[in-house]
Amino acid sequence: MNLTDARSLSAKDWHARAEALVPEGRHFIDGVFVDSSDGRTFDDVNPATGALVARVARGGQADVDRAVASGLEHFRSGVWSRMAPRERMNILYRYAELLEAHAAEFALLDVLDMGKPVQDMLSADIPASVECFQYFGEAIDKIEGTVTNTADDALHYILRQPLGVVGCIVPWNYPLMMAAWKVAPALAAGNSVVLKPAEQSPLSCGLLARLFIEAGGPPGVFNVVQGYGEEAGAPLALHNDVAKIGFTGSVEIGKQMLIYAGQSNMKRVTTECGGKTPQIIMGDVEDIDRAVQYAVNGIFGNQGEVCNAGSRLLVDRRIAEDFSQRFTALAQTAFVAGDPLDPATTLGAMVNTEQQKRVLEYIDIGRGEGAEVAMGGGVPSGWDHGAYVEPTLFTGVNNDMRIAREEIFGPVGAVIPFDTPEEAVQIANDSIYGLAAGIWTGNVGTAHRLARDIEAGVIWVNCFDHGDMTQPWGGYKQSGNGRDKCFESIVAHTQSKSVWVDIAQY
Ligand code: NAD
Repeated sequence: MNLTDARSLSAKDWHARAEALVPEGRHFIDGVFVDSSDGRTFDDVNPATGALVARVARGGQADVDRAVASGLEHFRSGVWSRMAPRERMNILYRYAELLEAHAAEFALLDVLDMGKPVQDMLSADIPASVECFQYFGEAIDKIEGTVTNTADDALHYILRQPLGVVGCIVPWNYPLMMAAWKVAPALAAGNSVVLKPAEQSPLSCGLLARLFIEAGGPPGVFNVVQGYGEEAGAPLALHNDVAKIGFTGSVEIGKQMLIYAGQSNMKRVTTECGGKTPQIIMGDVEDIDRAVQYAVNGIFGNQGEVCNAGSRLLVDRRIAEDFSQRFTALAQTAFVAGDPLDPATTLGAMVNTEQQKRVLEYIDIGRGEGAEVAMGGGVPSGWDHGAYVEPTLFTGVNNDMRIAREEIFGPVGAVIPFDTPEEAVQIANDSIYGLAAGIWTGNVGTAHRLARDIEAGVIWVNCFDHGDMTQPWGGYKQSGNGRDKCFESIVAHTQSKSVWVDIAQY
C-alpha cells in the first residue's frame, strides 16, 4: 500500500495488518532469502509490547563469506557495475517508486521492530528514503572523469570507477532510512552491496533488498546478512574482499571499524557516529515560541533516539527560566506516550528494555550530579509494559556533568545557561562530538559568526533538522569522518584511475 493510502489507516487497521504479518527474517543472498548456514536464529521483539515479532537468521562468518562472494562475482561480471548509466538510473527510479508503493509494509516493519510512532514513518522516514533513491538515481550519469591539462606528448585522463563490494553496517534508530543513505550511493556508483542491519531492526532491510530485484536489479548485487554486530558485522568489516565499509552507529563501534580495516585489507571506512548537539538560544531570539517548538521536537522527536538530537539547550541566562517554562508547557502536550501503531501517537517506545534502562540510569546520574528535573524523569504512567521513558528536561546543568557530555540517545534534554556569545561557543565546542548545532538569534552577524565558529558538520540557523538530499550529512571530531546524502557521497563510492597515453608520435 502506498504512502497516500497508508496515511488514511486507523490504529485498528494497523493492528489488523500487524496480526496478518508474515515476517521475513532470513538473509537475502544471490537474489533469494536463505537461512543461516548453521540454521541459527534470534528473537526479534516488539519493544512496545514485549511480543515476539519474528525469528531472524543469526548470521556468521559463513553467511558473510557467501554474501561477499556473490557480491564480488556479480561486480566482476559487470552485470551492474558496467550496465549503461541510463539503464541503472531507470532501475533506481523504478526502485524508488516501489519503495513508495510498499509504504505501509515498511512502516509496519520498522514500528514493530523499534517502537517508533507509525506517523513518523509516514511523514519522515519513508518519503526521505524514496527521495534518497531518486537523488542517487539521478546522480548516476553526473559522475564524470576528467582529461587533465598535461604535456603536449601525452593524453592523460582520470576515470571514476566503482570500488567493488561495499559493506553497509547500520543502526536501528531509522532502520529503513539509514540503510537507504548507505545503500543508494553505493549501488548508484556501480558497486555491489552487503548490508548488515542492526539486530534490533532487521525486517525492513530484507524487504528493501527484495524490491531491488523487483525493480530489475540483478541478483547478487544487493545482499543482506542479518545478525549481531560481533558475529555478522565484524566478519564483514574484516573481510578482505570488501572494498569499503559505510558505517553508521556509535563512536565506540565506529572506531572499531577503523581497526578492522587496519587488521584486514586497509579498506576505506566512512563513519557517521553520535552527537551531543547544542541548540544555542541567544537572548535576542526573535520568536522564542518558535525556538521552543523546535527545541522540543529536536530532543523528543523519535524518542530522542537521534544522532543529532538537540540534547544540550544552551540558553542565554537572562531568558533561561522563561525558556524552560515554555518548553515544559509545550512538551507535556506535544509528546505523550502512546501505542506506536496509533497514528495519533507522538512518543513511542525505546528500541528495547536495555536502552530504556540505560536512559533511566542517565536520569539518575543527572539527579546525582545535582541537576533539577523540570519535567519527566521516569516511565510514563500506564506504559510500564513496554520500554517507555518520559520526555525529561533537566535544568541547572553545567557542561561538566555527564548528562551534558555523554550521548544518552533518549528523550532527555539539558538546559545549560550562558552569559556571552563567546561562552556559548566555548561550551558548544567543549565536546568530543561535532555532528550538528542549532543557533537562534535575531542578529545576522551573530548567526554567521556562530555558524563559522562552532565545530560541527551541520549548522541550522533559526531552524532545526531542516535538510534534503543535496546536504552533506556528517560530523566533525568524533561524530565521524564521512558525509552521507549529497553528491560527495556517491563520489566517495568511486575511485580514480589515472590513464596515461603516449601521443608523442603520429
Ligand atoms: P552500534 O554502534 O551499537 O551499532 C551499529 C551497527 O554496528 C549495528 O548494525 C551493530 O550490529 C553493528 N555492530 C555492533 N558491534 C559491532 C562490531 N563489533 N563489529 C561490527 N559491527 C558491529 O549503534 P546503535 O546502538 O545501533 O545506534 C546508535 C548510534 O548510532 C548512536 O550513537 C547514534 O548517534 C548513531 N547514529 C549516527 C547517525 C549519523 O548520521 N551520524 C545516524 C543514526 C545513528
